[in-house]
Amino acid sequence: MSVDGTFDSKIDYYKKHEHDSLVQKACSVLSSLQIPSLYAEGIQRNRIHYEIFNQYPAYSLLSNISEEKVFSHRHYPHSPHKEQKQSIALYLHLPFCLKKCTFCCFFSTTDWQSADIDIYLKYLEREMALVSQKPSMRGREISSLYWGGGTPMVLDTVHIDRLMKMLHNSFSMRSNAECICEATPETISEKKIECFLKNGFNRLSIGIQTFNDELLRSYNRLYSRAEVIESFNKSKKTGFSHINIDLMFGLAGQTLQTWRESLEIVAHLQPQNITFYPFSDSFNKTVMSQNAETVFPTEEEKLLMHVMAIEKMVEMGYIQISPYQFIVSWKFPYAHQEFKAINGEVYALGVTGHSFLNNCDYHNHHSLKNYQKSLEQNILPIKCGRALNKKEVMVRYIIYGLQKTSGINRRYSGVNKKVFQERFGVSIDYEFHKELKHLKQLKLLVDTTDTIRLSYQGLLYATETSLFFYSEEDRKKINRLNLSADLK
Ligand code: SF4
Repeated sequence: MSVDGTFDSKIDYYKKHEHDSLVQKACSVLSSLQIPSLYAEGIQRNRIHYEIFNQYPAYSLLSNISEEKVFSHRHYPHSPHKEQKQSIALYLHLPFCLKKCTFCCFFSTTDWQSADIDIYLKYLEREMALVSQKPSMRGREISSLYWGGGTPMVLDTVHIDRLMKMLHNSFSMRSNAECICEATPETISEKKIECFLKNGFNRLSIGIQTFNDELLRSYNRLYSRAEVIESFNKSKKTGFSHINIDLMFGLAGQTLQTWRESLEIVAHLQPQNITFYPFSDSFNKTVMSQNAETVFPTEEEKLLMHVMAIEKMVEMGYIQISPYQFIVSWKFPYAHQEFKAINGEVYALGVTGHSFLNNCDYHNHHSLKNYQKSLEQNILPIKCGRALNKKEVMVRYIIYGLQKTSGINRRYSGVNKKVFQERFGVSIDYEFHKELKHLKQLKLLVDTTDTIRLSYQGLLYATETSLFFYSEEDRKKINRLNLSADLK
C-alpha cells in the first residue's frame, strides 16, 4: 500500500487503518523515535545494500589478494588473546538446492546429481588439505562448525558421513563445538536428522521465510505451512533440542497482516533461536518483480515489520541478541555469531566462502569453475580480499560488536570500552570521537561510561550506522560505485 506524505503522516495513516494491536504498538514505537531527523540526513533503510549488511569491509572495496599475503599478514595490534588464537570457526558452503527461490542471492545450483556432490566433496577435501597445512592453522581447535549454502540437508547420509570424516581428518574439533546445519523444510527426514545428530550436530537452522502458502508458492518454495510445522516437529521429536527458524520481511507481496500471521506461528512453535532477515532491495528485486504480480512493502511498512518482530519476541520472553536475532534464553546462545562479533577468526571452505584470517577479510571464488581450477593447481581458491591495517581492524571490531551484540533487552550489549582499550591500546572515545559524537546526535548510539551500543533507532538502522566508521576514502569509493548516496 503506497501512502504519501511525511514520515509522521504515513505512520498516522497506519495507526488509523490497521487495527491489529501489534501494528498499533509498532506505530507508537516508531512515533516515539526520531526517524524524520534521519531522513533529513539522507539515512534510509532502502539504501541498505546486501554487501554492506553484516560485513566489513564492503565487498566492492576488496581487490586481488594472494594466498601468500593472507597467510603472512601481521596481526594487529598484537596476536589475538590466547583463547582466540587457539579457536577458529569453520564455515562450509554446500551450493546445492532443490529449487531456486526467487529472492535468493546465494550461490547455489539446482542442476546437480549425486555424482556432482561427490566431485565437490573431492575439491573440498583438497582445500582442507591445503589450508590445514598452513602454520597459522596448526594447533587450532574448531569451536564452531557451520554448514550453510545452498541446502546442506540435500546431502544423503553417505555424503554427510564422508564430509564429517574429511573434516575430522584435517581439523581438530572441540568436544563441545557448536555444529550447525541449514535445512529447508522439505529436505528434512528422520533418517538425515539421525545422521546429523550421530555426527555431532547440535543446532539446526530451518529456512522457512514465511508461513503464508500463497507467498511460499510465489517465491518458488516447495512446501506449505502445514509441511513446515510438520518438519519442525519432526526435527524436535527426532532429537534436535536447539532449532533456529529464519523468516524474511520486506518481500514482494508481504503485508503487515501476513507478517503478523508468521510472527504468531513462530511464537507458537517456540524455537530456541529466531532470525528475521530483511529483504534487501538491491538484490534480486528484478527476479522477484518478474515473478510476482504483487508489490513490495514500503519503507515505512518494512520499519513497522522490524519493530513488530522485536516487540512480539520480547513480549514472548525472547532476548534480542542482535538487530535481527533472538534467543529463548542464554542456555541456547549462538556461539558462531558471538565468536565472529569479537573478530574471531573464521575459515570458510567452499565456493563463495568468506573468511577472516590473520586480519585479512577475503572471499573464495564465486564460480565453481574458478574454484576448481585454482585447487587443481594446488592454490587456495581466493578471489579477492583486503589485508586490514590497525585502524581497520578496530573499525571491524566496532561494527561487528555493534551489529552482532546489540539488543533492546540484552545484557552485556555492544562494545565494551575497557576491553577495546586492552585489545588495541587506545581509547575508543579518543580514537572515534567524531563518529561517536555524530551517531549520538542522530540518536543511533547509546554511549555509557562502559559501553557503546545501538539504541532502538540504531537497531533499525544498524547497517547505516556502520557506514559512519568507514574511512573517508572508502566511503567515497562506495559512493562512486553508486552503492549508497549522500553518506555523511
Ligand atoms: S533454499 Fe536457500 S540457498 Fe537455496 S535457493 Fe532457496 S534461499 Fe537460496
